Amino acid sequence: MQGKERKWAYLTLHSKWDRTDLDIPIYRASARGRVVPLFKALTSSFCVNECLYCALRAPRSIARARWTPELLAEVGFKLWKSGLVEGVFLTSTVDRDPDRSMEVELETAERLRAMGFTGYIHLRVMPGCSRHLIARAAELANRIGVNLEAASSDIFGELCPDKGDYLNDLVKRLEWCVGEASRARSEGFNIDVDTQVIVGASMDNDLSFLELTWRLYRHRLLRRVYYSGFEPIKNTPLQQHPPCSRLREHRLYQASFLLRDYGFTLNDLNPLLDGRGMLPNASNLKLLYAKRNPELYPVDLNEASYDMLLKVPFIGPRTAKKLMKLRKEKGKVTPGDLKLLLGEARFRLAKLYVAVQGKSLVDFI
Ligand code: SF4
Repeated sequence: MQGKERKWAYLTLHSKWDRTDLDIPIYRASARGRVVPLFKALTSSFCVNECLYCALRAPRSIARARWTPELLAEVGFKLWKSGLVEGVFLTSTVDRDPDRSMEVELETAERLRAMGFTGYIHLRVMPGCSRHLIARAAELANRIGVNLEAASSDIFGELCPDKGDYLNDLVKRLEWCVGEASRARSEGFNIDVDTQVIVGASMDNDLSFLELTWRLYRHRLLRRVYYSGFEPIKNTPLQQHPPCSRLREHRLYQASFLLRDYGFTLNDLNPLLDGRGMLPNASNLKLLYAKRNPELYPVDLNEASYDMLLKVPFIGPRTAKKLMKLRKEKGKVTPGDLKLLLGEARFRLAKLYVAVQGKSLVDFI
């Protein structure tokens, strides 16, 4: 919970448009090892749907409001111009109908670009919205995506009874995002696609999320799958349901990075899961994989494929690429090269799993 709170900062902006003070939510997104401040706004908090876990579900009695695209674009532009944010992340409820909600996001993005905004724009695509709106989003934004919310149609239907059909309104729209993003990229736009699922809001297990993630990454459909741990909200049907632990979220991210960046397959990870399809309580999944598969190690630094180098604990894509480059340039790499690349501490751990010219580096100092 605390970790999540640290992701947000709020600043009060004195508005010249409506003579009131505006509370501006700044979201500290993490991207490639650095923190990127974004103006993250819901274009509306009115929703026609009743998703069981959601603070904004229609029957819940809360104060609601709508941004106008004009004001949203003005505020976003002002924050970006003054260096307080690097981009704008727009999302919405289903306010009346999905196309109308999407149009408000698009009009805001269009206004921002017309004002000369060259920062990052992330648009959340509404389930069930029309394809031409997704096509426009792909030309205006740097990232688009539909939140799939669940790993399967059954669980989605249970959690979001009136949000649409999982396959048609969500999965198909996500595929449209991928298609339109790829068309836009071929025309010179800088755009990628993501999705988000809610973890722990039902009787789900890690395996179901990993199967979904594997399908999406294997076909190179997505830049990123986000796992949002469920948190119970008062006056919702799931208020008594236990929250998802931060550790579970963390383990899913770790496993998903192994699938996306480290050449692991679902078959590699499957034996690590317990009988309920849950990931083990281990701080380093790759290390656990190495311990459970001793026959694959040590990996020879001069013989191994790039994918196999990536399976060595404490060797990441950057180090593996440098090792391949060194092999090409010098003909072979030495234990000293690896030590230099990893640093003393990581080398001491990685050396248990590597060899040079058939000789294990366990005793190398
Ligand atoms: S559609 Fe979105 S905003 Fe509306 S209730 Fe469902 S999750 Fe909440």
